[in-house]
Amino acid sequence: MLGEGGTALAKLNVAIRQFQADQDRELDPRGLRQAIDSLEGTFAADIGRCQESGVHLADGSATVVNWVSRLCGMSATSVADRLCVGRELGSLPRIAEALRTGEISYQSTSLLCHLREQLGEKRDLFDEDEMLGYARTHSVASLRYLCRFARHVADPDGFFNEAEADYSRRRLDISQIGDGMFAIDGILDPESGAALRTALESLAKRLGPDDERSHKQRMADSLGELVHHAMDEGKLPQRNGVKPHLNVTTTLEGLKNETGAPAADLELSLPISTRTLERIACDSTISRVLLADSMVIDVGRATRVVSAPTRRALRARDHGCRWPGCDRQVNWSTPHHIVAWSRGGPTKLPNLVLLCYFHHRLVHEGGWQVVQVGREFRFVPPDRVVFRRARAPGLRWAA
Ligand SMILES: [Zn+2]
Ligand SMILES: [Zn+2]
Repeated sequence: MLGEGGTALAKLNVAIRQFQADQDRELDPRGLRQAIDSLEGTFAADIGRCQESGVHLADGSATVVNWVSRLCGMSATSVADRLCVGRELGSLPRIAEALRTGEISYQSTSLLCHLREQLGEKRDLFDEDEMLGYARTHSVASLRYLCRFARHVADPDGFFNEAEADYSRRRLDISQIGDGMFAIDGILDPESGAALRTALESLAKRLGPDDERSHKQRMADSLGELVHHAMDEGKLPQRNGVKPHLNVTTTLEGLKNETGAPAADLELSLPISTRTLERIACDSTISRVLLADSMVIDVGRATRVVSAPTRRALRARDHGCRWPGCDRQVNWSTPHHIVAWSRGGPTKLPNLVLLCYFHHRLVHEGGWQVVQVGREFRFVPPDRVVFRRARAPGLRWAA
């Protein structure tokens, strides 16, 4: 148990328990962090001494990292960090003193120690007073940047080799989870990561005053929009002789939203809702496949729902998404049928309007209605549609 016996550590534990039990003590997070960080420095020095003494070998562990990790319930990375700090502080007395007295934090100390260790044979270039000055005046984030900068100046080859080693860690996992959603997890190199973030953030701005999506939702939508855009542009490399695209399979009854019709399939595996099917059908290429007893007996020619001349005329008329306040240009917008073509709406200019990916989805899945008034379009939110229906004749309960 902590605090038993008469050792120095036991006395420290008694003092800690008294401190924790004191309900009236003044709140001082900075002072408390300084005390914890000061002790982290002591811990780092102590496990360095353990390593020298070889106590881990006597205890059956090949390395001191394994031994401390098991003994103290720490990750190997954390133990390796403390060992580096312990080793380097032995040669950096003024930085060690600044950590002990709470002048600089443990995290800042760790950055300086790792920098000096990385410099290897060039460690003489490490100017203790100059780096201590930076640690006193800079945040941890900007000190990290400074250390990387200093590393590059002192040892460009080492910096390059380390960056290449980091580059080999890049990966991207895209896996489908139980409900059909996809989980993405990955590590990108600095250049690709910055490019992805810049591209997504340019698309993730709010689209008009009605846009209530969170920033994370907008970033996720941006990725989807970027990918759809790349596929729509038709410039991605072909696979098996065709441009990459999504396949949706449905029946005539499904397309007409008839009761009892089976759900449409995305990529022959995922059922999708009728509303999503209708959105995808708004601007798609359709092939008729005739089946008899599950055997394909005829495949019709693929035809684009919105013909090239109509598409050109629509683009010239709308110039981009027509949603109020939305700035998506024509190349980022898609034709929407005000009355769905599966329900008899013609694919002609008066029945079409350009919408961006997000607003097209808001109309179909979100239940908004597009109403044409003269040359203008009005967008009616779903609650107002319900309100209007509730006031329709014959519904006396809604009066
Ligand atoms: Zn549509
Ligand atoms: Zn829009």
